Amino acid sequence: MSINKKKDALLLVMAFLFASGCGTDDPLTITDKPTKKAALKGEVNQDTLRIVFYDFDRTIPVIHIFHETGGADDVSNKSDQFFVDAFGGKERINRLKRHFVRLTQAGVKCSIVSYGYTSVIKESLERVDLIDFFEADSIYGRDSEVMRRFHGIKHKVISKEMRLRGVGYEEAIFVDDSQKNIKACAEAKTCQTLHIHEEDGLTEENMVFIESGLKNK
Ligand SMILES: [Mg+2]
Repeated sequence: MSINKKKDALLLVMAFLFASGCGTDDPLTITDKPTKKAALKGEVNQDTLRIVFYDFDRTIPVIHIFHETGGADDVSNKSDQFFVDAFGGKERINRLKRHFVRLTQAGVKCSIVSYGYTSVIKESLERVDLIDFFEADSIYGRDSEVMRRFHGIKHKVISKEMRLRGVGYEEAIFVDDSQKNIKACAEAKTCQTLHIHEEDGLTEENMVFIESGLKNK
């Protein structure tokens, strides 16, 4: 072997040892993990919740407004009393208001993913003075672009919204009275889920559970 060939072989061995990381610390060992903000006293894990995705019919109102109105896309002719009754009366409406105040004041975003018409959902919420807790672009009805794009598969709509906002599994919860929708969301491991078992929408217990920041999940 000529001197040049020996030199080439030595360089090759050195290059190999360098590339294989011989004698160096493993650079892929990352120890800096993102730190979470300390939980507020008495509100365990409250800071982990960032967004709640509610179904509408039979979750926020106690009745199924879409079915009750024959699938109408305009409910402006309905009386104020119709909406008060639909939401379970004045006392429940006040409780819902406190629920949404608590969440929004804690920085939690409230969103609706529903098979009802967007305009009907908005009109209904307006008539019982709950609309202010929902940003205009956070209500997705059957006629919304995103619901159409995902063929009404709610957990896909939720997943898209979560990705857009950089929200993780633990930071979102989907609330629905439909076992089918809840099961699909849970199976897709999109976010946490809460099935409304009662026939009459979100109960006191359900609201307390969401407000507790999901500490029991
Ligand atoms: Mg429903």
